[in-house]
Formats: sequence, structure tokens, C-alpha cells
Amino acid sequence: MIPPIASRFVAGESPAEALDHVRELNDRDVKAILNLLGEHYDDRGPADEDAEAYLRLVDDIEGADLDACISVKPSQIGLDAGTEVFRENVERIADYAAARDVFVWIDMEDHTTTDATLDAYEELARRHEGGVGVCVQANLRRTADDLERLADVPGKVRLVKGAYDEPESVAITEKAAVDDAYEEYLEYMFEHFEGGIAVGSHDPKMISRAKELHDEYGTDFEVQMLMGVREDAQFDLADEYEVWQYVPYGGKWLSYFYRRVMERKENLLFALRAVLGR
Ligand code: FAD
Repeated sequence: MIPPIASRFVAGESPAEALDHVRELNDRDVKAILNLLGEHYDDRGPADEDAEAYLRLVDDIEGADLDACISVKPSQIGLDAGTEVFRENVERIADYAAARDVFVWIDMEDHTTTDATLDAYEELARRHEGGVGVCVQANLRRTADDLERLADVPGKVRLVKGAYDEPESVAITEKAAVDDAYEEYLEYMFEHFEGGIAVGSHDPKMISRAKELHDEYGTDFEVQMLMGVREDAQFDLADEYEVWQYVPYGGKWLSYFYRRVMERKENLLFALRAVLGR
């Protein structure tokens, strides 16, 4: 069982617990992106097992009639075991989900995986006419070119600042410069994309900028934030905009919780307060 201190950020160990959380979100007009925790499997066995788990999750989402989709990590479904393993699993998941009208996101990992991830995304988004989305990272120097490539692909693109420590040769490493790049790419997307823009950020400045750009260009967008982070803002925003919460679940919750605490020490304090009820 997940200790109360971590349950602010992780919805439970089982799909049933995660779906209960989704129901609560949907009641408050927030939609859910479900992620089974897991990454970096060197062998095919666990990658295939997680791919199977996603198929069962798609059945659960369809059966429960929830406003929910899924998000998979390439290294969770086989990229470290070989590009062909990843392609086989991601295609299986995307084909299965499309037949059941469930949207599939592909998370973006470190820069060595970007080409394989975007290639899979482009093929599947075209095959399923927009039923697939991908994440791109503002800190990578290649992202301007990638956005140009993705502008005409009929899927969704989640813009994030980038969570991986990348070398200077491929990434901007200074925080203020990453923020500037994020704003620049947001503007590009609102100007050149026909929709399918996901603002994956908790940053009030980026959310305000997206609202302004929406007013200026009329392009639709959605906001995406993580479970346990700025949830009050998520519910407030949902009064006016489409909001999706990224909801991780599963047995591998410890390293995910540790990452949330390390990136922002206040998270530990928030979690403690929640446990102590104050
Ligand atoms: P930051 O730059 O960390 O912070 C900016 C401001 O936001 C802060 O000053 C504060 O005002 C506010 N803020 C941020 N965190 C908190 C908090 N905990 N509590 C209160 N206020 C806060 N990265 C990837 O590399 N690949 C992915 O596939 C990926 N998917 C993601 C999916 C979603 C839905 C989200 C939200 C993020 C994802 N990320 C992913 C992570 C992303 O790259 C960033 O590392 C992370 O979101 C932190 O950047 P930020 O824009 O949220 O804000």
C-alpha cells in the first residue's frame, strides 16, 4: 500500500485505485492522463508486460466511460531493448486504444530517444487521425525544427520545459533561457498548429501566456499538470479551459515520489501537511 505521504502524487498501486481517482477528477471537470509507473527495462519481458497492462487499462477506461487517456514512456515499453520492440508495443497499444476511442500520449525521455519517439508518433498519429500525442521539450536545441515537422501532423503536442539533465551540446541548461524558449515555442504553436496544443506546465507565467495567445490566434489548447501539483489551480482553470491531470499509479511509486520531492523540496512539506491534516 502507498503511504499517505506519497499518495498526494500517486493514485494507488492498482488500476482500480487510479480509476477511483479519475472519477473524482471527472466530477470536478478535470480529465485524466493515466500513467503506469515504470521505465528503462533492458529486457523485452517486463516491457511486454507493461504493454499488456496498458491494453487492460484501455479496456477499463472504455468500460467505465471515463474522461481519461493513457501516457506511455518509450523505455517502459521496450526502447532500451531495441527500437523494434518499442515500435511493436507502441503500435499495439495505439491500434488497440484507437479502436476503443481512447487517446494515447507518448512521453518524451532523454535526447537519445527523441528521433525514435517522434518517428513512432508521426506514423501512428497519421494512421489514427489524431488519436495520438507526443511530448516535446523546450530545453532541447532541436525543438524548433521538431515543431516545424509536427505542425502538420494530425495529433496533439504537449510542450514541457524538459525534465532530463542534458548536455550543453544538445540543450539549453540555464533556467531563464529555457523559459524564454518555452514562450517562443508556445507562440509558434498557437500561430502554426490548428489545435492539439497541450501546455504541460505548472508555471503561472506560461499558463497566462497561453491564454493570451489563445485570445490572439483563436487556437484551441489544453492545460496539463501533474497529480498533487497546484491542484487548486487545476480546478479553477477547469471552469474555463480544458484541463488534464497526469495521474501516475503502480507499484513503482517510490522513485517517482522521490523525484517530485527532489525537484521541489516544498513538495515534501505539502505532502506532510496533507498527512497531518493542516
Ligand atoms: P517550473 O519551471 O518547475 O516552475 C515554474 C513555476 O511554476 C514555479 O516558480 C511555480 O510558480 C510553479 N510551480 C512549479 N512547480 C510547483 C509546485 N510543485 N507547487 C507549486 N507551484 C509550482 N518532462 C519531460 O521531459 N518529458 C515528459 O514527457 C514530460 N511530461 C510531463 C507531463 C505533464 C502533464 C507535466 C506537467 C510535466 C511533464 N514533464 C515532462 C515535466 C516538465 O518537463 C518539467 O520538468 C516540469 O513540469 C517542471 O516545469 P514547470 O513548467 O511545471 O515549472
